[in-house]
Amino acid sequence: MPTPAHSAWGINTTAVHAGRDDLTDLGVHALPIDLSTTNPLPGVERGGQAYETLATGGRPSAADGTHVYRRLWNPTVGRFEDAVARFEPCTFSGEDTEAVAFGTGMAAIAAVVLSRVKAGRPHVVGIRPLYGGTDHLLEHGLLGTHVTFTDVHGLPAAITEHTGLVVIESPGNPTLELIDISEVARIAGEVPVMVDNTFATSVLQRPLELGAAFSVHSATKYIGGHGDAMGGVVITSSAHAQALRQVRAITGGLLDPMSAFLMHRGLPTMPIRVQHQQANAAALAAWLASQSSVARVFYPGLAACDPHGLVGQGRQMAGGGAMVSIAMGGGFDAAASLASRLRLVLHAVSLGGIDTLIQHPAALTHRPVAAAAKPGQGVLRISVGLEDPEDIIADFAQALA
Ligand SMILES: *Cc1c(COP(=O)(O)O)cnc(C)c1O
Repeated sequence: MPTPAHSAWGINTTAVHAGRDDLTDLGVHALPIDLSTTNPLPGVERGGQAYETLATGGRPSAADGTHVYRRLWNPTVGRFEDAVARFEPCTFSGEDTEAVAFGTGMAAIAAVVLSRVKAGRPHVVGIRPLYGGTDHLLEHGLLGTHVTFTDVHGLPAAITEHTGLVVIESPGNPTLELIDISEVARIAGEVPVMVDNTFATSVLQRPLELGAAFSVHSATKYIGGHGDAMGGVVITSSAHAQALRQVRAITGGLLDPMSAFLMHRGLPTMPIRVQHQQANAAALAAWLASQSSVARVFYPGLAACDPHGLVGQGRQMAGGGAMVSIAMGGGFDAAASLASRLRLVLHAVSLGGIDTLIQHPAALTHRPVAAAAKPGQGVLRISVGLEDPEDIIADFAQALA
């Protein structure tokens, strides 16, 4: 639990120190990795009590004397969760936010959806565009949900007494549309709103402060930041967190402790990575906008992409982020040719890592999305990395020439 002194820290101090409160007592400086799949039991009675607490989504207490089994709880994952929660501090009925970590971003999103089905409200309202995997999960109805896709204007009519969740993403994937989170939360009323905060990151946007109930991240992206670990986190109230931990214990979605260690190790540099990648993205977006073969540049930091001042007036997001998308005037052929001519920039899916990546959403990440909602064939999505901006721009210049 965050103490008042901790929540007074700035984001860089939080990034460096959060989730390390017990290290001095343990007599260590680096984050310990606990790989135990099972744990010694202090006795049948107390062991059984600990099992009961953890399997129903509770957090362990010192009195339990055991974590029983790794699927129920792992201390390395727990430290990472404590750290992530502190990036989006908030209180719900006097209780601080908690984070719950999963093996992937999709496992995190599936757990949020399942927890709402369990609450007896299986109808989900989604506002497109969404990440292709999320769109697919909702459209498929695999978890017993049925979905209505709409836009912000259609939201009041789409919500029924069975609606258990409103799902949004801002900036949206892949064309980086901005959605007013406060407005959606106001319209949704008592229906919880889940914001996929992967693209914005906790550094630039904190949805819970704007009225969302769940802030979800694919930790595979900016939180991990190095392209070598997969994970997902949900930051939410302690009541929702308990329900999510129960889903996680039952379905087996716990984050792997090695990945938790790698991602926790990368957290101290997340604010500076994101700020620096954002500056590179702004420079690249401005340069791309001056190219005649590029029909459109989608970047939340450009006034044309931010009609309501959600970025420009700082009402929602502290900057345009580090993702840029473009629509090539020459359609699919021009997009495919650009993707294959780049040399420094890697043609690959995923995002949020230290190196610049480019991919074609209609063919790849958004392949399962219904035709009417699919991004254009000329659209390419760029995750801008930490290289020198002149080198990124020079690579695009040679590829477009
Ligand atoms: C990648 C991604 C996901 C899914 O995360 P995984 O870790 O790949 O399961 C969800 N939402 C967004 C916006 C993403 O970019």
